[in-house]
Amino acid sequence: MTYDYDVIVIGAGPAGMAVSAMASEMGLKVATIEKRALGGECMNVGCIPSKALLRMAKLRHSADRFGDYELDEHGKPSVRRPFERIAEHLAYIDEKKTSGMFKKVSKLKLAEGEASFLDPHTVGVSGEKLSGKRIFISVGTRPAVPPIPGIRDVDILTNETIFKLDAIPSSMTIIGGGAIGCEMAQAFTRLGAKCTIIQMDPHLMPQGDPDAGKLLEEHFGKEGIDVYNSAKLSKVEKQNGIITVEAEGGITIESERLLVAAGRRYDFDVLKLENAGVRFDPRKGIDVDKHLRTTAKNIYAPGDCNGHYLFSHAAMHQGMIALMNSMLPGPMKMDFRKFVVPWTVFTDPQVSSVGLTEKQLKQRGIDYEIIESRYEDYGAAIAEGIPVGYIRVYAGKGLLSRGRIYGAVIAGEGSGEMINEWGLAIQKKLRMTDIMMLQHSFPSMSFLSKRTGEIWMMNRMTPFMKKMVRWMF
Ligand SMILES: Cc1cc2nc3c(=O)[nH]c(=O)nc-3n(C[C@H](O)[C@H](O)[C@H](O)COP(=O)(O)OP(=O)(O)OC[C@H]3O[C@@H](n4cnc5c(N)ncnc54)[C@H](O)[C@@H]3O)c2cc1C
Repeated sequence: MTYDYDVIVIGAGPAGMAVSAMASEMGLKVATIEKRALGGECMNVGCIPSKALLRMAKLRHSADRFGDYELDEHGKPSVRRPFERIAEHLAYIDEKKTSGMFKKVSKLKLAEGEASFLDPHTVGVSGEKLSGKRIFISVGTRPAVPPIPGIRDVDILTNETIFKLDAIPSSMTIIGGGAIGCEMAQAFTRLGAKCTIIQMDPHLMPQGDPDAGKLLEEHFGKEGIDVYNSAKLSKVEKQNGIITVEAEGGITIESERLLVAAGRRYDFDVLKLENAGVRFDPRKGIDVDKHLRTTAKNIYAPGDCNGHYLFSHAAMHQGMIALMNSMLPGPMKMDFRKFVVPWTVFTDPQVSSVGLTEKQLKQRGIDYEIIESRYEDYGAAIAEGIPVGYIRVYAGKGLLSRGRIYGAVIAGEGSGEMINEWGLAIQKKLRMTDIMMLQHSFPSMSFLSKRTGEIWMMNRMTPFMKKMVRWMF
């Protein structure tokens, strides 16, 4: 059987771009189908524009802190055209990187349009039929809108529209206290909007450590962001240009705009997965096995569309694993679940996590201890004016697992960089002594990681150990 292409990729977000780039670099003939914009959600309406906005907001916010650093204060700079600047960045990246790649690589075809399966090896797009030996579905997710009475009658914002605003609104209510809700609340507040977060969950970033959520809420309070947790939303309406969100218990919030950041949904209708024999659950995504293969043996589904970890780095990694698995013989195929997935919420303070959470350790019956070091005890953090946060590590306590690193949470400046070291430690099954014995450049924030290792060691100094030390000394 011959096919038009070795590989067809549906969706050019982080997962699809990883497959396309790698497969074409390997000399395979690739067709990539994209219905909106190259780079997917991450590049166009997710990670990249949100981080650009956060950077502008952080810079403006720093004007409030000049006095803390013995610098003259000149008031807050006014905000000019943040969204136009972001659009310029995106256009530049597209020209130089994403679209650029398709122009440079001759074995890589870009088909613009919406793909639908005709059979397990054939896809229709814009009136054309493409056949491929292997097909990779990497279509991502869309923002979900919760079924609150009245919400459909209001011009809500989602991540798909918020970066196209003309200006920062005077006020914004945000439904959802996860990563997107928290990041946007802080960015828009620092750029001049009065923001309120309202959510069903009991603390900010419900998937993460409750203490980190509380730390962030405390910090948000100082910046003027109101947070309502465990709220049952009952009504949304717009009158005379003002949006009102109501929740049980007499909560009423009024604002100019409403951002919905309350989870994701799957949108597979157009794909016609049934024609390819690809099974999916409308609430959980496309079914994949540990090798990222779907129920059709020539079709893989890396990235958000399979519902395992909704992060760009996970999507890219899965793209790479799926492509390699599609070529490797059975015993050499890789189990994508074996790779740890660190994550970061890029607020100030940043919150990051990797490995098992305390809840998961308890559920699995693992004997663990908590080792913690705090930013407020670290001279460099104090002198740099960032003494807020902590590193918390979950390490084994059993005879054979003593000091084995199972999970880490870091809340504080630089945590998005620091968490990767702990990710490597978990993936490589390292112990606290390995972190302690690694020299860390000083005075970096990651030096606190080494200090956490030292704290673990000092905690071993029982009266018996101290006696031993004296004897040896
Ligand atoms: C505001 C925001 C901030 C975020 N920040 C971060 C962050 O800081 N770090 C992080 O790791 N993650 C972040 N994320 C999550 C990240 O964007 C996603 O995890 C990532 O984009 C998923 O990649 P993907 O390739 O699986 O899917 P996507 O990026 O969603 O790409 C899927 C692509 O498939 C296309 N497509 C869909 N159906 C079809 C079809 N039938 N035919 C052709 N094309 C189709 C879509 O148009 C889209 O381009 C953020 C998300 C948002 C919304």
